[in-house]
Amino acid sequence: MTWPPLPPGIEPAELAWHDGVPESKRYGDVYFSRDNGLEETRHVFLKHNQLPERFSRVPEGGSFVIAENGFGTGLNFLAAWQAWQSRAPANNATLHFVSVERFPLTREDLARALALWPELKVLADELLSHYPPLVRGAHRLVLAGGRVRLTLFFGDINDAWQSLDFHADAWFLDGFAPARNPDMWLETTINQVRAHSKPGTTLATFTSVGRIRRALIDAGFRMEKTSGYGRKREMLKGILEAEEPAQPEDPGTIAIIGAGIAGCALARNLAERGYPVKLIDTGGPGTGASGNAQGALYVKLGVEFNDQTELALSSLTFAQRFYANWRGKHWHPTGLLQLAHSPQEEDRQKRFLQRNDYPRDILWPVNREQASSISGVPTESGGLWFPGSGWLEPANLCRELADHPLISTEYHVKVKRLLPCNGKWHISADDGKTIAADRAVISSGHLSPGLIPVKGHFRLKAIRGQVSHLPAPAVINPNAVICGNRYLNPALGDIAVTGATFDLHDNNPLPTTESHDENIHELGSMLPSLFSPRSDKPSGIDLDGRVAFRCTTHDYQPVAGPVFDGESANLDDLYLFTGLGSKGLTYAPLLAEYLADQVTGQPACLPANLVRRLETRRLYQTDVVVS
Ligand code: SAM
Repeated sequence: MTWPPLPPGIEPAELAWHDGVPESKRYGDVYFSRDNGLEETRHVFLKHNQLPERFSRVPEGGSFVIAENGFGTGLNFLAAWQAWQSRAPANNATLHFVSVERFPLTREDLARALALWPELKVLADELLSHYPPLVRGAHRLVLAGGRVRLTLFFGDINDAWQSLDFHADAWFLDGFAPARNPDMWLETTINQVRAHSKPGTTLATFTSVGRIRRALIDAGFRMEKTSGYGRKREMLKGILEAEEPAQPEDPGTIAIIGAGIAGCALARNLAERGYPVKLIDTGGPGTGASGNAQGALYVKLGVEFNDQTELALSSLTFAQRFYANWRGKHWHPTGLLQLAHSPQEEDRQKRFLQRNDYPRDILWPVNREQASSISGVPTESGGLWFPGSGWLEPANLCRELADHPLISTEYHVKVKRLLPCNGKWHISADDGKTIAADRAVISSGHLSPGLIPVKGHFRLKAIRGQVSHLPAPAVINPNAVICGNRYLNPALGDIAVTGATFDLHDNNPLPTTESHDENIHELGSMLPSLFSPRSDKPSGIDLDGRVAFRCTTHDYQPVAGPVFDGESANLDDLYLFTGLGSKGLTYAPLLAEYLADQVTGQPACLPANLVRRLETRRLYQTDVVVS
């Protein structure tokens, strides 16, 4: 890694270990008390925010939000999670923990620091297995089967609090001592603490410095000195005094129109948070564009590390963690090779590697020999190797996601229109059936534009894609997914899926021989040694395959958020979730998480710069343009 790291890298913490306790070399301070860090956390942060008692009062489907200044070793987080585990009500309530870290510990250092607490081992192991690669930006970790959601922002505290949307119930103010790390205790930071608090929010901090106390009082907190832990005589606790806390609005029943990967991931996400969902589809789960037998978990990361690249990267890493739940079942993390299959792509990859610094748990460059050996297929070039990627069985996955007691399904229902009526959405089908819901999400792929009940035009288009099922013996079976101008998956049973065509102005729903031939030709030009000498090269006329229509936007970026009303604002009970193009498997899990955050009023997993990229408003045109 260069120094300071190129994007998206971030400097890790440099630790000194004294008597097994980690200390920051940069700040010359300890991460936690030498006496007993865990007991100190329980005393300072848990007890003085009255967490165990408050946890037990969280209602069904509700959430409790803790925010923290300085994630460090994650000890505070694990202690809060442990208390939540023993005191949270036995319902679908969620603990959100929002934290920031400018110098994250490496996974190895984190493991060493957390090994000090045998009683936290199970939780620490789960955290470690989800711990994100050291790249800047927001990471959402879904833990304890969704009962605990950690939003971990790698970057500076002021950037974090400016770009994340959340309101805390309790704060852990845990920067290093103000004298050693004044940046963490600036007035602007304290004002951000206030801005992200609800009436009744509490805070606790190990420090009792007068300047900090006065700044918190000025920000509106009633502060009190109390006895500290161990050798520390005093600490501070506070509460934001204000009228009764507002009760979060119950979103009621949520209808999702479209049971592709986006709709199914969202339905499952909401159901697991305790919200009932009606999942509606013309066919069934995974019968449209998400219905292929195989699909690659693929993104193309831009040469510039801009918002678009950050969104693709966050989606990729989140998706890899999400799909780990189906490892060996519908998820096959074989790794993925992105070939430098043309001079242009070779040049692009060269520039990409010069300008960026990706950790090896995300990708690394491979030469031709390495590419051939890693993929098991002789290649003509090197490329980028994504060790944590792989392929999915999307149709099977959609079926499983949709199977949850809180998801009621309405399949074989062709929705014609949505009408607002007495505070609800009336969703009417072409057979006369009407389904009512408090909120609705249009997630119907290329059929979405016809359902948006707003005058004007949202720039969405359909692009035909045909995949071909190659008989497995016809090709050298790769060990990993290979992508270039086509992708090829390792065989599933007796076929290997390759594709897909990209037919902008073609609405033929049936597979054609020409499209199969095109797939074979493109695959052959990408991997000339692929076709097995023991078998005839397949011909399009003999192949099976499948056609689906991807939905893309004018800027080829997904859309996820409340529907723009065509005048000046967003509707607050109707959402659009589509435009995922050919990257649906990559984008769907994170964007479903983000939409579920929005619908339930829970902390957002995405920072503001990425939220802006997803807005429906950017698609809107008053004049209907046929593209
Ligand atoms: N809560 C942690 C735990 O449970 O281990 C200990 C936190 S440690 C006392 C303070 C942390 O704040 C350090 O990890 C440090 O790197 C981080 N930090 C310092 N300055 C920061 C800044 N400007 N923005 C974000 N994090 C910062």
